[in-house]
Amino acid sequence: MLCFSSFLPTVVWEPKLFINAERQQYIVMKKDDIIKDYQEYILSTYTRTPAVFVKGKGMQLTDIHDKKYLDFFPGWGVNNVGHCHPKVMSAVRDQVNKLIHIPNNFYHPQQVKLAREIIYQSFPGKLFFCNSGAEGCESAIKFARAYGRGQRYEIISMNKSFHGRTLGALSATGQAQYQEGFHPLPEGFKTVDFNDIGAVKKALTEKTVAIMLELVQGEGGIHIATRDYVDSLRALCDEKDLLLIFDEVQTGMGRTGEMFAYKHYSVIPDVMVLAKALGGGLPIGAIVVKKDKADVFKPGMHASTFGGSPLVCKAALGVFKAIQSDKMLVNCQKMGLYIIEQVEGLKNQIDCIKDVRGLGLMIGIELNIPGAEIVEECFRLGLIINCTQGHILRFMPALNVTQKQVDKAINILKKSMTTVAGRKIINSVELEEG
Ligand SMILES: *Cc1c(COP(=O)(O)O)cnc(C)c1O
Repeated sequence: MLCFSSFLPTVVWEPKLFINAERQQYIVMKKDDIIKDYQEYILSTYTRTPAVFVKGKGMQLTDIHDKKYLDFFPGWGVNNVGHCHPKVMSAVRDQVNKLIHIPNNFYHPQQVKLAREIIYQSFPGKLFFCNSGAEGCESAIKFARAYGRGQRYEIISMNKSFHGRTLGALSATGQAQYQEGFHPLPEGFKTVDFNDIGAVKKALTEKTVAIMLELVQGEGGIHIATRDYVDSLRALCDEKDLLLIFDEVQTGMGRTGEMFAYKHYSVIPDVMVLAKALGGGLPIGAIVVKKDKADVFKPGMHASTFGGSPLVCKAALGVFKAIQSDKMLVNCQKMGLYIIEQVEGLKNQIDCIKDVRGLGLMIGIELNIPGAEIVEECFRLGLIINCTQGHILRFMPALNVTQKQVDKAINILKKSMTTVAGRKIINSVELEEG
């Protein structure tokens, strides 16, 4: 008969840590060793740029060779207040000395302080805290299903949307490339074209319970919802008793020049999803549910072990303080317009730019050539940007970016575009001659 004691080792031993055994090696570890160890020990879900970063301050990142980079895409929208903002650092330092984690079957002051701050900045409602954007969207989806009480469960979302990689959030994501290889996906999701109210109406059935969208599609390529469209969605949701869910994971926390992007419109959602910049770099997500709908969730229906821990909530409070004390929203609006103006200026000189658009500091530069080489060239020259959908460059600098930093970035962008365009001309001449 098996019993627990048969598994007890006869000699009790303390594990020797690899980090200690190899301490010497870690100290002298070089870029190539680190990249090699990633290949050995980290699942290869990402295509990584071969750079190893060790420090960040404001708009600047420093790599292991002490090379400095100007970060115009900090953390994919996580570092809205820049890297290591003093207000976030001191909040974390203060809290880490007191209490890091407390489970959600108890109370602690930081979670409710943060909830009150978010409600003060948005609309009367209640929050559920989790750890990421995908988990936030997942929570919104479960909330919608709970609202449908088993009778209604279908959620309409948009083509080119992005809601995260967990199976529910992935089902709502209107981009087949992310879903490939993961079927069967959960049922009850339909996607329609963005900014097309007719398409939404056509997709409605008696099973529909919610409409979910980003007001500015981020990964989809910086597509901005029109006022008419958003007004019509609100009216439709009111008429049919549907939940209007805004995924503000990327647009939230000042990114578009308002604390939340919905403030550019004259509507309020039933559910708002937050994550990315909320924690200033620490992992936190949340849903905000309008007050009159909030009682749908009852004890036991949904949970998250780490959700809303003292440490991350305190960090998020630091983010709100940073945005407010540095007057970041005003700067965001100003610098957003300035970047668009500068890129419009480039458009006349460089013919690979097809369009530039954005809201606040969420800016897309659409090219008529693939963008990867330009991103690479910018990186070589010390500027971090991003390319989505293959040909749309994204600029999303910290909200306190200065005009000087923008000028520097635009200069590098211009150089990179010229270099890459030049290469293309040489290649095509060689092709013609060959
Ligand atoms: C990044 C993103 C998500 C997913 O967030 P994760 O924290 O990576 O899970 C969801 N929605 C939008 C709009 C996003 O930009």
